[in-house]
Amino acid sequence: MTRSITILGATGSVGASTLDLIRRNRDDWQVEALTANCSAEELAALAREFDARIAVVGDENCLSDLRAALGDSGIEAAGGAQALRDAAARGADLTVAAIVGCAGLAPTMAAIEQGGTIALANKEALVSAGDVMTAAVAKHGATLLPVDSEHNAIFQCLAGNDIADVARITLTASGGPFREWTQAQLDAATPEQAVAHPNWDMGAKISVDSATMMNKGLEFIEAHHLFPVGLDRLGIVVHPQSVIHSMVEYKDRSTLAQLGPSDMRVPIASCLAHPARMETPMEPLDLPSIGELTFFAPDETRFPATRLAREAIHAGGGGPATLNAANEVTVAAFLAGQIGFTRIAVVVENVLNRYSVAAPQGLDDVLSIDAEARARTRELLESSELV
Ligand code: NDP
Repeated sequence: MTRSITILGATGSVGASTLDLIRRNRDDWQVEALTANCSAEELAALAREFDARIAVVGDENCLSDLRAALGDSGIEAAGGAQALRDAAARGADLTVAAIVGCAGLAPTMAAIEQGGTIALANKEALVSAGDVMTAAVAKHGATLLPVDSEHNAIFQCLAGNDIADVARITLTASGGPFREWTQAQLDAATPEQAVAHPNWDMGAKISVDSATMMNKGLEFIEAHHLFPVGLDRLGIVVHPQSVIHSMVEYKDRSTLAQLGPSDMRVPIASCLAHPARMETPMEPLDLPSIGELTFFAPDETRFPATRLAREAIHAGGGGPATLNAANEVTVAAFLAGQIGFTRIAVVVENVLNRYSVAAPQGLDDVLSIDAEARARTRELLESSELV
């Protein structure tokens, strides 16, 4: 049976992995909407290839390029933040939320309000909105399927079990490209070095987050919302081979783990086929050639981001949204060569310490906390106090 699919963030890394699987199973899917920010030509090419009903750019200035690239294809084109929401609100059997950053929050919420199934890659949206998003999921009868490899692993390890029997959930972390670097080396790390992840091929922002370990911090908060076992039952272990994607230990001390190649097509396939399974083009896992699996406790002195995330979610209120916004702004500043690598965590911590915000009650509150935290972070960066 053909199902309809919308991909928010179709031109990104997760978008490309999703479309690769759709390409291999064309007859199973009708593509409803594909979106990007401003990669108009790439988006138009994908919309034509997949016969999408509508293509949308988030940046309205890129709409004329999109229209030109779509030509006489008959595919509808739209641009701007409201157009992204409208595209998500058209509803589809499955919506893949793969925009990077809090920019994906409003469209993801629009998809949730349709009550469909959302394959969530856009962790920043859940980190920022937290209970606002999970309440909307419950209210509208939507289903969230986790795309993030760790959360997808946990989701698989929980299947058929009672969450009340969980003793501990352990998120694995590769440790990123700088796992063994000294503090002095970290101080001098460049954007090129930070985006060169040893195991995963990902977009620039999440690659930097992996290098700082903020990615694991965001995932800690994401796990708290997706799998409410209590913060004290969530842990992080560094596992450089990225073979075990996460683990669930039950009260009888039985631990279930999900293993697989470091390729996002595996967790994405699990969402596309859920609750069944589908073929992927990856080679089978070859454990003898991998040889050994190792594990280390995170070093929060060199990589303070996991501590910051833990503190933000423990503090509650608008802390997680502030953490995320400050991180997005500082990562962009690092990628633009404006601040050093280790300044990212310093600036984020300062923003968190200086401002405390009440818990958001709805989407508008989350968006205003996000906007305010971005402005405060930019002020700090411009004051060059911490740069
Ligand atoms: P990319 O940077 O590769 O792609 C981001 C996508 O979002 C692009 O389609 C981009 O469009 C679009 N986009 C960017 N900014 C905006 C905006 N302001 N408004 C609308 N659309 C926008 O990111 P990834 O694919 O790496 O990551 C996407 C999400 O998935 C992130 O939240 C990330 O944390 C999460 N994730 C990613 C994994 C990975 O392996 N890459 C693994 C697990 C989670 P354009 O091309 O026009 O810029």
